[in-house]
Amino acid sequence: NSTTPTTNDSTFTVNSPNVTYTNNEILSKYTYRTTSVAQDPNGKYVATPQETLYDFKVDRKVPKTGMMLVGWGGNNGTTVTAGIIANRRGLVWETREGPRTANYYGSVVMGSTMKLGTEPKTMKEVNIPFHDVLPMVHPNDLVIGGWDISGMNLAEAMNRAAVLEPTLKEQVKKEMTQMVPLPSIYYPDFIAANQEDRADNLIDGSKACVAHVEKIRQDIRDFKSQNNVDKVIVQWTANTERYADLVPGVNDTADNLLKAIEKGHEEVSPSTVFAVACILEDAPFINGSPQNTFVPGAIELAEKHGAFIGGDDFKSGQTKMKSALVDFLISAGIKLTSIASYNHLGNNDGKNLSSQRQFRSKEISKSSVVDDMVEANNVLYKPGEHPDHTVVIKYMPAVGDNKRALDEYYAEIFMGGHQTISIFNVCEDSLLASPLIIDLVLLAEMMTRIQWRARANSAEAESAEFKGFHSVLSILSYMLKAPLTPPGTPVINSLAKQRAALTNIFRACVGLEPESDMTLEHKLF
Ligand code: NAD
Repeated sequence: NSTTPTTNDSTFTVNSPNVTYTNNEILSKYTYRTTSVAQDPNGKYVATPQETLYDFKVDRKVPKTGMMLVGWGGNNGTTVTAGIIANRRGLVWETREGPRTANYYGSVVMGSTMKLGTEPKTMKEVNIPFHDVLPMVHPNDLVIGGWDISGMNLAEAMNRAAVLEPTLKEQVKKEMTQMVPLPSIYYPDFIAANQEDRADNLIDGSKACVAHVEKIRQDIRDFKSQNNVDKVIVQWTANTERYADLVPGVNDTADNLLKAIEKGHEEVSPSTVFAVACILEDAPFINGSPQNTFVPGAIELAEKHGAFIGGDDFKSGQTKMKSALVDFLISAGIKLTSIASYNHLGNNDGKNLSSQRQFRSKEISKSSVVDDMVEANNVLYKPGEHPDHTVVIKYMPAVGDNKRALDEYYAEIFMGGHQTISIFNVCEDSLLASPLIIDLVLLAEMMTRIQWRARANSAEAESAEFKGFHSVLSILSYMLKAPLTPPGTPVINSLAKQRAALTNIFRACVGLEPESDMTLEHKLF
């Protein structure tokens, strides 16, 4: 049996009548406090505090987990693979700035902390690694595999990517030479024509079909059994596809989508075929690119099967800054009036995005990231009023993976004045995206081990069945540019709110109150 009990949730215990630890589980009784708002006949708001009682149950057994990447031979795929190997082996390599050691910087799970509480005597905060809040998989233990339309082994593909130092590459070369991506599905109409010359590792057929879905499912099963892993998380880090047209009767419902695949309809993209295969195989599937992989039929299919999906588009550089900065400006009461965002990049992603239909997917994904923050401030903005926002991306081969993002934020301040903020952000693209890929895998895996049930009151018999979170994992929003949320629920783009949701849901699972930052204990004495 490859399942091993965890030890890493033992850095702390919660001392509360609402929290129970067993060998296999952490059980927490949690009171969720919200505010319900209604308008009275005079139009005045009435805010009513509300309480909902939830039981959370966390499975403490950390499974042996596999990470399968679609687009494994790309810049992200090779960089994250080399990074995990380097961490696993504790590698040190020489650079012109001296020796460097493997780390997980840029990963929220591996590189950040959560405030556990305060020591009353010293009044000092106690912080613990985020990774230790719940019993999570360690990235060093991930078994890595995946697919690519390019058949290059991972060592050669890492050279092609031109991201990592030669002294590091030399040390992981042997291991990565053995890693060869599985053949993948390639429907040329969906990615840029300029990608054709790398497509040499293909499963037969150039449009969606049942055989493709079944082959991907079989690949996942084979990977599981060959590596003796309990769970597999699949992530799309392949090229950005064009948007699929939403066609009634084709991709609008789960049944229609499955029928469209049976009939070989040309509007079903490779990424949607991967999503369908993963849903049917109950392997969580995350889309790291901007296209509309999750057509309504795919979301419905996931809901029907209770399978987890998450997306879209890694939030690594420019947009991450934007979702922090715009939140700051608007919450400061400063009226942001325009955002101009330029990018140039020279990696294969940039080459693919130099094609208009693929750029359009990225443009859509990058455009709506300030909407919720603007809409929430009805003091600065009238209904429907919006800052001007433009996004430009150009392919500039010379800069390679070192993407340049230039942003100008133009805002109106007190009494007709202006504030202009210019940012020049060199986003080492794959080095920013790789830790996000890791976080998405670890968090998605963790969500497969959290269950909940609601109770009308604390006395009610504990008879209700536990169930999982909604299929659409909006808890992953922090890592994603255009967060997918359960149908009909709002999208939150603000980076701080996204992190708070993540932290506070994890805290709830161990019976801790949300981080309030009130620190009354330092103010009222
Ligand atoms: P890349 O071009 O280096 O890698 C993509 C890989 O996907 C290539 O090896 C290609 O051969 C492969 N591929 C294409 N179609 C495929 C298919 N149908 N099946 C299997 N493999 C296929 O790109 P990258 O820099 O690694 O970025 C990957 C994706 O992540 C892009 O869509 C990009 O827009 C998105 N993304 C990247 C970042 C970032 O790097 N910071 C941020 C946000 C989104």
